[in-house]
Amino acid sequence: MLESLKKQDTVVYDLVQKEITRQKDGLCMIPSENHASVAVLEAMGTPLSNKYAEGYPSKRYYTGNEFIDQIENLAIERAKKLFNADHANVQPNAGSTANQAIYFAMLDVGDKAMGMDLSHGGHLTHGSPVNFSGKLYNMVHYGVEKDTEKIDYDKLAELADKEKPKMIISGATAYPREIDFDRFTKIAHDIGAVHMADVSHIVGLILGGVHKDSKTADITMTTTHKTLRGPRSAIILCKEEFAKPIDKAVFPGLQGGPMEHIIAAKAVAFQEAMEPDFKPYQTQIKKNAAALAKVLMDNKIRVVSGGTDNHLILMDATSMGITGKIGSTALEEAGIYCNRNTIPFEQRSPFDPSGIRMGTPSITTRGMKEDEIGQIGEWITSVLKDPENSGLKEEIKEKVKKLCNEFPLYKEFE
Ligand SMILES: *Cc1c(COP(=O)(O)O)cnc(C)c1O
Repeated sequence: MLESLKKQDTVVYDLVQKEITRQKDGLCMIPSENHASVAVLEAMGTPLSNKYAEGYPSKRYYTGNEFIDQIENLAIERAKKLFNADHANVQPNAGSTANQAIYFAMLDVGDKAMGMDLSHGGHLTHGSPVNFSGKLYNMVHYGVEKDTEKIDYDKLAELADKEKPKMIISGATAYPREIDFDRFTKIAHDIGAVHMADVSHIVGLILGGVHKDSKTADITMTTTHKTLRGPRSAIILCKEEFAKPIDKAVFPGLQGGPMEHIIAAKAVAFQEAMEPDFKPYQTQIKKNAAALAKVLMDNKIRVVSGGTDNHLILMDATSMGITGKIGSTALEEAGIYCNRNTIPFEQRSPFDPSGIRMGTPSITTRGMKEDEIGQIGEWITSVLKDPENSGLKEEIKEKVKKLCNEFPLYKEFE
């Protein structure tokens, strides 16, 4: 593969090869990342990228969309089947744009909505003041409780009743516990609000039957590249009554021509998610995360909320006398990739926060199970306990590489 690229542009080719090697030889433990199949990657690299298809199937502004329409319809039908949804819009380019389209459809500028606080695990687009969502809307935030570091649904209901937002957003990017979407729906509907579920991180677990689903939500948004393991993109699912405003908000409200090569790749990923090995994969992601949390806690590392119900773990690096930045940088030098993250009731700055976020979707894609997790957990612990020890980091990096070669990735790119 990549022969033409190699011939045409060695600079880009070399950098692409280096990145592929980095992915092969290191442990990706960033919970929002995954390794998509070669079939998904191939669909993304097709001449479908050349086509303008503004509009929707059979209602395009350009001619020549006979096959593009079939591809987009296929993606829509598969998404509806997979999620058991009334309506699917497969055009959003990314999770952030999909959320933007939903807010455009459901709110007027200045309206009140409610989302999870960023420092408690919410996403930037759930109303952070530095993001469009916090600038255009009157966003009220809920968070986790100080003692449990979990959402208290009774308190959430009280806050919703007091604030009366027009829309309540559930979902998070750094919340290690199960989210009760049905409870969110009830809280929203009790005050006449719309419930929008952002299941970006945990969508795979939901489809795998190892996390509560969001079927009662009025609108569901998910990215397609995290636990779903598809292309970098997003989709919106909704009840029939919201279909028109959602479609109009995506196009012409927000985007121009959709990326049909990515839509083709989404169709492939939806098909993969309906195959029999998808559920066991998701079950294993969760088992691996639980095993990792256990090793870390056994090694006296504080894990936010005392464990995990999903694919991710939030560590409090200050429990080892270091910061999230020092810890994540040291781990990178040992070939283990994760990200620094704020923790609830953060005492430090967002640029050098207390937490380290880790997840198991990518390493589970490689086939790693509890035995490997035990080993990885010990490596992580030893690096975090001695982050300036270059010899140790080099040694672990070699061991990581050896383990990765036993669970190879992307043989097609050799
Ligand atoms: C990743 C994520 C998004 C945004 O996705 P992008 O594709 O990076 O724009 C939105 N919401 C949640 C909860 C996410 O985890």
